[in-house]
Amino acid sequence: MTLGHDATGYVDRVGSSVHHLHVGDRVVMESALSCGICDYCKRGLYNICADLIYNGFLASYQTHPADLCHRLPDSIGMDEGTLAQTLAMGCQACFKADISPTSNVLIIGTTPTAVSAAMCAMAIGAKKVTIAGTMESALEMIDRELGYHTIHYDANALFGEVLEAVYCKFQEWPNCAINCAITPMTMNLAVMALQPCSVCVLAECESECASFNALDILMKNIRLVPSFRSANMYPTALQLMKSGRAPMHKFIGQVFAWGNVEEAFQCALHESNVGLRKVIVNGKSSNIGLQARKRSHRFQD
Ligand SMILES: [Zn+2]
Repeated sequence: MTLGHDATGYVDRVGSSVHHLHVGDRVVMESALSCGICDYCKRGLYNICADLIYNGFLASYQTHPADLCHRLPDSIGMDEGTLAQTLAMGCQACFKADISPTSNVLIIGTTPTAVSAAMCAMAIGAKKVTIAGTMESALEMIDRELGYHTIHYDANALFGEVLEAVYCKFQEWPNCAINCAITPMTMNLAVMALQPCSVCVLAECESECASFNALDILMKNIRLVPSFRSANMYPTALQLMKSGRAPMHKFIGQVFAWGNVEEAFQCALHESNVGLRKVIVNGKSSNIGLQARKRSHRFQD
């Protein structure tokens, strides 16, 4: 389980009407339980259901809706599988941006969602993808381990300096921005950097309020599109992971045994403890799921 609420597990029992899962299957679960009956759920937008419930996964056994359980491909480990949700959010941002092979994609922020969006944009075949942010250590890791283009800028930098760096990187102005660090500064940066008729996806907030030049938006005909959580994106995320185009294992930071869950929470308390990586609790050392694992013919360690 990735702290705090994304988990993989073994199927121990299934209901009589469940046919796509079997006892012993390894699955990743969408953690948010939507109501299934509101207008948004009916339209497939269960990510914005007003009655979402998070039960959490700090339990040996849990009942979970079958339609929110996705079977893990054999090549994806249980720890890595917990990161499907992170990738799903990045995929959703890319699909909202209508990324194509002619897209020059500026991703702002260095969160796991931002990097996941970069992975998905690369997999789609975007013309160029660049991640811009203020966290130098995270950008170094992205550059070193994934080889993506990056731009580091100081939080107090002048807009002109950052814009110059953006133009130098793309050799033209980008036509797509995915903002995973929404602040007044990054919103203005995105609007100023984008070509006319571009799209700016609002994916993650660093501050609740962000002002930007509305006249610029109007005159440049920029489309602002929100991307909140994810809906129906797990199959895409799992396919990308299976194909090797989304090496989510690089996000695995420290892995704690089930008995050390308190220590895991302490470690995950602050970003500075783990940077871009995630803290994971693995129940393998306990008996969790043992019976289901024994019954599975496809059990892997
Ligand atoms: Zn609902």
